[in-house]
Amino acid sequence: MTDDARPSGTDRGDDDTDRGDDDTHHSNTDHDEVGADHPGTLASGVEAATSKDTTLLLDVMLGKLATYLRMCGYDAAYAMDETGGDPGDDRLLARARDENRVLLTRDVSLAETADRSVLLAGRTPLDQLHELESVGFHVELDERPARCGSCNGEVELLPDGDPVPEYAPDPTETDLWRCRDCGQVFWRGSHWRDVESRLNDR
Ligand SMILES: [Zn+2]
Repeated sequence: MTDDARPSGTDRGDDDTDRGDDDTHHSNTDHDEVGADHPGTLASGVEAATSKDTTLLLDVMLGKLATYLRMCGYDAAYAMDETGGDPGDDRLLARARDENRVLLTRDVSLAETADRSVLLAGRTPLDQLHELESVGFHVELDERPARCGSCNGEVELLPDGDPVPEYAPDPTETDLWRCRDCGQVFWRGSHWRDVESRLNDR
């Protein structure tokens, strides 16, 4: 990796290999394809949101979306972050409630059960971001990163004089950030610009 350390969880794999996305879900329910009974995008208990006033919890199918939302500055917890596996509906709902997070899911019954939720229908992160915008979410890449795309930790500018990992560019030419939780160092490289242009192209 040279010019392309990502401001996000690229160590998780590229676009189509994100764990949990689309192909696994709770128990025996499989909502990979949105069925005819899916009502479409539906926000419940939340009217508008910015990264400053709203924290999120994303269902197992939405790992890629979590990375994008973190790049937009949201505190976006992901269902599988805690244990690496599917926590199950009850645990997921309890966590959303306990941590006061809006649940994002493609599962109709989960969305109905949560206190605050957004039911999504789209299959790709960009479609899903568009859906979030349609229900009042502010979605825009942060000018400076606030959250680690890998782990959702807060990031800080790498202090002057701190060791720079071999994979990172020269800190005198490029601002480097470091995740306070997982230690990953990143910068706004080609991946960042790619995401930025995809967001702008929607
Ligand atoms: Zn991190």
